[in-house]
Order: sequence, then C-alpha cells, then structure tokens
Amino acid sequence: MIANYHTHTCRCGHAVGEDREYVEKAIERGLKVLGFSDHVPMPFPDGHESRFRVPLRLLDDYVSSVLGLRAEYREDIDIRLGFEAEYYPDLFEGMLQVLSPYPVDYLLLAGHFNDSRETVYNPQTQFSHDALRTYVDRIIEGMETGKYTYVAHPDLFHYAGPERIYRWEMTRLCERAKALDVPLEINVLGLREGRNYPCDQFWPIAKEQGCRVVLGCDAHDPQDVAEPEQLARALAYAARFQLTAEPEIALKKPF
Ligand SMILES: [Zn+2]
Ligand SMILES: [Zn+2]
Repeated sequence: MIANYHTHTCRCGHAVGEDREYVEKAIERGLKVLGFSDHVPMPFPDGHESRFRVPLRLLDDYVSSVLGLRAEYREDIDIRLGFEAEYYPDLFEGMLQVLSPYPVDYLLLAGHFNDSRETVYNPQTQFSHDALRTYVDRIIEGMETGKYTYVAHPDLFHYAGPERIYRWEMTRLCERAKALDVPLEINVLGLREGRNYPCDQFWPIAKEQGCRVVLGCDAHDPQDVAEPEQLARALAYAARFQLTAEPEIALKKPF
C-alpha cells in the first residue's frame, strides 16, 4: 500500500491516538499519501451533535492539525485533508457550507444511515427491500453530485432478504459507480473485525460491472494504518474476486 485515504482521529469520539501518531505510523509503513477522513460534522437543524462525528466546535482544530502536520512532514509524506461524509439531501448544502472555508482535498461517501434522523444504522440486519433501495438511491445520488472521491464500504448495508433483490439493487449501485468512474472501497477495518462488510455477495457484482476498487484502512488507531497482516488479508480478499485495488487514486476537490 502506498496511499490510504481512510483515517480517523480521536475527535470523532471512537478513535484513539494523537494525529501525529497516525502520520508517523504511515511513514514507518512506507505510505506516500495519508488522507485524514474523519466523520464530517453535520449541521443538524436543532443544534443536535451526533455522537460519532467531529463536533462542529472541533472542526477548526481538526483542520489546523492536519494542515500543520502536512507542513511539518512534507518531506516524508503527502498528507491530505478529507472527510467521511454521508449524503443527506436535506443537509447536503449546509454541510458543504460548513466545510467551504477550509481547503478540503476530498470527501468519501458513506451510507451509515439512510436519512439525517440517523435512526436505523445500516450495518444492522435488515429485511426491508425499501430500506435497501433507499440506501442504494442515496449512494447513487451522492455519487451523482460529483463531490465525492470514492464510496467507503459500499457494501455496508446488511440485507438479509432474498439474494436476487440484493443483486438487483447492488447491480444498480455498481453500474452507476462504473458509469460515473467512482471507485469502491474494500474496507480493511470491516475485514479485521469480521463485520458484515466486506460482503461476499457484493464484490462479484462489482467485478461483473468492471468497477474500480481501492483499499481503505478505516484506521481508528495508529496501529491500523497500513498494518501488514491486515493488508495481506485485504489483498487476498480482493484476489478472491479477481479484483485489483488501485494503489493510488486522484482526489476530487469538492469545491
Ligand atoms: Zn464508515
Ligand atoms: Zn471510517
């Protein structure tokens, strides 16, 4: 691995370590590019702050830390400023406004929830075709904005209904990703923790559709930045589906 674009910081409340430790681990493990992509602050209308994101009040701190490290380590590694962000139609413009004062290099599209009320967490087992359809619609609409560099764990939705429905819906997702030239991420964290993603039913569809693939460490601990055993597992996983992860991708600036 020479580039990892999926890295969190302690500000989201469920990651550990100092920002600097992520950078030093990335350098030690030979990365050329390290992208920070912490959970984006969302401007919820009622002032509500979600429990798993960078709080709005820490946004300045997140940005200045990443930019400071970029300058400090510029001889050793290319550090990029990003966010992992849902696509919520009702909050999308507001989210971009919150980010617009900052030199954001990229956004990763993630569908942790289908809507901004964030009631149903998508990795929990679900049987509803409607919910799966909405998940796919949101990812497609997000890709169509042209603001996102790649889709993080596109297979995060845990559907336990009929296989043919899963196939139908995920084929839609993969077809659009291919047409819009948006890479899909094999999530190394999911693999390490034995989560429902990466999903064995998903990746043959991505292969059939000719989708581009990238690995994302989704590091919530400096130890998990390009950890060799985890990477070996992820590469073997990709190979099972005759997929080749791209070592480096072009980032799309959202504005
Ligand atoms: Zn995620
Ligand atoms: Zn993540």
